Amino acid sequence: MKLPRPLSHSSISLYNECPQKYKFKYVDKIPEKPRHFFSFGQSVHLALEYFYSKTEPVAPSLEALLKHYREIWVKPGYRDESQEAEYFEEGRQILTRFYDKHAKSYHVPFSVEYNFAFEHEGIPLTGKVDRIDKLPDGRLSILDYKTGKKLAAGRLDIDAQLTMYQFACEKQLGEEVGELIFYHLPTLKEHRTVRRGAPLVKELTARIVNTAEAITKDKLDPKPMDSVCRWCDYKPICPIFKDQYAGMPETPAKPAGEPELAALVDAYGAATAKIESAKKEAEAAGAALAAALKKKNYARAFGEKFEVSLSPAVKWEFMDKKKVLEILKTAGLFDQVLAPSAPLVNKLLEGASLDKDLRARLTELGERVESPELKLKKL
Ligand code: SF4
Repeated sequence: MKLPRPLSHSSISLYNECPQKYKFKYVDKIPEKPRHFFSFGQSVHLALEYFYSKTEPVAPSLEALLKHYREIWVKPGYRDESQEAEYFEEGRQILTRFYDKHAKSYHVPFSVEYNFAFEHEGIPLTGKVDRIDKLPDGRLSILDYKTGKKLAAGRLDIDAQLTMYQFACEKQLGEEVGELIFYHLPTLKEHRTVRRGAPLVKELTARIVNTAEAITKDKLDPKPMDSVCRWCDYKPICPIFKDQYAGMPETPAKPAGEPELAALVDAYGAATAKIESAKKEAEAAGAALAAALKKKNYARAFGEKFEVSLSPAVKWEFMDKKKVLEILKTAGLFDQVLAPSAPLVNKLLEGASLDKDLRARLTELGERVESPELKLKKL
């Protein structure tokens, strides 16, 4: 198979997250549902593109900026009008604060929303850089706007998107990149780092080549992982999960006239939202703590109520899992790495194609536990 489209940072990440998800999105061209956070980010990015679109070093007026923001506002993905209004106001405040901070020292950037398209080892690559400025020494400063609530600690130093931008700008513009910036818009804070060294660029190019090779060899199998599958729009049509959805109506009936049921649905939704928000908060605090421990070279730290120890977590990722298993089989080490994947064993047992004897042998070893899974969706 040929690559269905040039690779970008996001399509490479998507492939590595789950090749089947990549297939649904880029090969079968089944769009994902719109998400409010993408729409919000896009609206603010478009407004800032306008802000920096002048050819003279004079900022547009705040009124013109906010008028443009209103006109280009991207609507899809919001739960309801009140959520949309809340985000619109948040964007308006961010832009106003951004204006107050930067209008007086306005400069015309070297490039805004710079589109790149080039080939590496015959692999087409594409992407867009939010802003490029010239440093006093003539090198390039690459800036990426972030509109999310928090920026994970340590991300700046390893983020593959920034590495891709450096690689692309140096290839296409023929100028050296001097610094990389995440501009966190909600706090108006610029997080800077120096240009990426050779090891990270090498890691990126290997990832590009491996991903392109895997896609062109049709390696597009599902890679189930609870944390990813839970939010995957393609779950009802995914080979791993679609049996669970067989016979279910696509649009469940609304609980009209069922106030008790409606209250339970909302209580469940609100509690789940709290868990998600607490989980995100814990992830951000954990990443900041791990980065602080690593910086100080501590393996353990104490708070007033908790103790934390840091153990090195190493994970290997293989593009060609079949080959790895072949090598291990040949070396007689297969049993040491064999572990049944729960979703795959479930699929086998719940499917119709399993041999009778085999089914009997397997069912003897286990117990069929029905645990109805609730699918929650914001209204
Ligand atoms: S449900 Fe999971 S395994 Fe299936 S496509 Fe989505 S992420 Fe991949």
